Amino acid sequence: MQGLSILGSTGSVGTQTLDIVRLFPERFRVHALTAHSNVDLLAAQAREFRPQCVVMAVAEAAIVLRRRLEDMEIEVLAGPAGLCTAATLPDVHTIVAAMVGFAGLESVLAALRAKKKVALANKETLVVAGAIVERVLAEHGGVIIPVDSEHSAIFQCLVGESRSEIDELVLTASGGPFRTRDASTFASITREEALEHPNWSMGAKITIDSATMMNKGLEVIEAHWLFGIDVNRISVLVHPQSIVHSMVSFSDGSTKAQLGIPDMRVPIQYALSYPDRWPAPNPRLDWSEIQRLDFEQPDVEKFPCLSLAYDALHAGGSAPAVLNAANEAAVSLFLNGRIRFTDIPFLIGAALESRIVGAAETLDELIAIDKRTRTFVVEHTTVGAI
Ligand code: NAD
Ligand code: MG
Repeated sequence: MQGLSILGSTGSVGTQTLDIVRLFPERFRVHALTAHSNVDLLAAQAREFRPQCVVMAVAEAAIVLRRRLEDMEIEVLAGPAGLCTAATLPDVHTIVAAMVGFAGLESVLAALRAKKKVALANKETLVVAGAIVERVLAEHGGVIIPVDSEHSAIFQCLVGESRSEIDELVLTASGGPFRTRDASTFASITREEALEHPNWSMGAKITIDSATMMNKGLEVIEAHWLFGIDVNRISVLVHPQSIVHSMVSFSDGSTKAQLGIPDMRVPIQYALSYPDRWPAPNPRLDWSEIQRLDFEQPDVEKFPCLSLAYDALHAGGSAPAVLNAANEAAVSLFLNGRIRFTDIPFLIGAALESRIVGAAETLDELIAIDKRTRTFVVEHTTVGAI
């Protein structure tokens, strides 16, 4: 039995992870579940899966949850310290890191220091702190298995291969809901339009990231750290059908791809079953229905976030952390109706050009940079600089 701790169990990836646990009850024991503030769903999950501990990031929510679970022997914890406890419980073998944003970083580092296997959906962790994660992996011996569909595809293509024989990683991108929309109308894009992803149903933040194509930019940085491949050998290819989940080209001219119907349960399950595959009732590709697979180059004029992410990875140091924090702050402002869609890349570009960018070697430095960048973005919004 695999002992699991699911961080972010109330979200899109978290709830789909629990679907897999329901499918294979004999394979898993859930020890911890955590969420930001959704007391109702976490209470229901706790009653169904009976973990030894649950954590709410928001302290007030933990107080309500403790009352709701009074009749059960479940420890209710709160805040970042509680998340780190959930990430390091002795009986836990695998952490599913399914929380969104920078807030996931500390608990992932704690899990790796405790030599856990981390099934990583939280790409922001690697974007912000790839160098620190690499160091912790080398020093402590934990392991990361990717959950993000593109990285799972690459990971699957690399089974049995040698990293030194990789020529290029090709990350596919759906292009999001605005691939064919005229860029001159981007300033009037509404929150609702941006939340309509053509192929995937996901949390709000990553759905906006897909609409700006920042998601693919974050994934380029994620791939760099996961697979140890130079940025110049990671490319992005728009593939509107999202059937080819990504590809790897090798030094002999061969290319491998991983394909499937877009369904996150496949890469989540693979991260849990690796190196095995378990039979599951996921939808199959029907080649009599698929008429064509299309590919095109990304339009970086239209989607400047993609270039900003490449620039940040080239710049190194704290630039990816600034990119990530500025993006999180700008997406949140957009979701709250405070800025236009086109202000998102504008604010991130301004943050990257500001003096916030510098060295970042430690977690504390990254936390400080994250905070300063968020303040920078909010100030640039409120002083009417846009
Ligand atoms: P979501 O918004 O649906 O869920 C996020 C989860 O994190 C929730 O359980 C929420 O309670 C928790 N959370 C939010 N803020 C928190 C905080 N400050 N502290 C602790 N917990 C917090 O998001 P999602 O779509 O499931 O995405 C989760 C992560 O997985 C993201 O990093 C995303 O980029 C990545 N990812 C998601 C998908 C997908 O299909 N949804 C695919 C690939 C990668
Ligand atoms: Mg992805």
